[in-house]
Amino acid sequence: MSELDPAVMSALRAVADDPVTYVAEWKAKSGGRAIASFPMNFPAEIVHAVGALPVVVQDDPTPVTEGRSLLAEFYCGYTRSVADQAALGKLDVFDAFVAADHCVQLLGAVDVIRWARPDKPVHFAQFTSAMDDSWTKPRVASRIEECVRDVETALGVTVTAEALAASIRSFNENRRRLRELYDRRRSGRVRITPSDMQTLVKSSMIMDVREHTALLDRLLAQLDPTAEPRGDLVRLHLSGHFCHGPRPELLDLLEESGAIVVDDDLYTGYRYISTDVPESGDPLAALSDWYLERNNNAPCPTRVTTQIDWDTYLIDSIEKSRSDGVVVLMAKFCEPHMLYYPELRKALDARGIPLLLLETEHEGLPAETVRTRMETFVERIRRSPAAVSL
Ligand code: SF4
Repeated sequence: MSELDPAVMSALRAVADDPVTYVAEWKAKSGGRAIASFPMNFPAEIVHAVGALPVVVQDDPTPVTEGRSLLAEFYCGYTRSVADQAALGKLDVFDAFVAADHCVQLLGAVDVIRWARPDKPVHFAQFTSAMDDSWTKPRVASRIEECVRDVETALGVTVTAEALAASIRSFNENRRRLRELYDRRRSGRVRITPSDMQTLVKSSMIMDVREHTALLDRLLAQLDPTAEPRGDLVRLHLSGHFCHGPRPELLDLLEESGAIVVDDDLYTGYRYISTDVPESGDPLAALSDWYLERNNNAPCPTRVTTQIDWDTYLIDSIEKSRSDGVVVLMAKFCEPHMLYYPELRKALDARGIPLLLLETEHEGLPAETVRTRMETFVERIRRSPAAVSL
């Protein structure tokens, strides 16, 4: 199996591990401004088109302190971490904040930012969650226009159609490169660990998009397309975990028991890069189409499309990637995921697809418990009748 270039990965990891330092250095170097957005729906292209740096705010792995008194304990770790970072001034490097709604808990975190940093512009767009009603399309289009107007007001600039079209092309190029890495991983010819894949996607949420694409080109150029896949490992699909990447230490444990992760639908993963924005026609309409189309390509339990569901998508993905089982990573108190999980479980059980649920917490990782459960899960798959070739 071919491996990723360590020097490039180390540069990307430095950004993924410390987004604020990257943003501060980018601002000092370029004289530009940086706008923070929140998962999972805000189109970064709008911010990029005005020459600012769009950055998806990441979970901070340090324990929540100030944020404890600002949001209830039953908010998910990501929202409590955002509240904490805002209260501690860790997000002060950003010149404005933009959010497109997908979850009540996120609204709470955005309210904390308004309260903790009243001098910073905060724009909130209520994107409709019913994706195929007759009124959905015009409503989404008007929300996208609203986002553009608010970014223009916050920065005192104008978004031109040409600049927006150029930004759309740049982000599409970047997504294409990342999807190519996903394809290579599925083929088994390239070894990309789940924590490396997270580094690749997370850094794309932070870095200047063209700088990031250039690094991906270096990675891709060095891969050996003829490397032989390994046939002795249990192939796994990682599912779930919205809004922030699971801890790298947890991801590393998943492959320690003779398994290899070949695909995922994590937000800090394939969900983020699943869909390109159309490059022809009106760029604002193209961004609306992107929002609607994404739920067909990687259905999200926070959206509703009558003909599409996450379980069917997951089963198709498992077939395409020839995965032997699914590990579901669920962030504690993530309501949309908790509510949808029984449907996923039912669908996978009905097809005899092995499934392991691991709940993650913001503070603490029960490493030994995870290791033991993974070893048992991998052994169960190896002994199943469907796995005779492993
Ligand atoms: S979708 Fe889940 S992880 Fe994201 S903000 Fe809502 S509760 Fe938190």
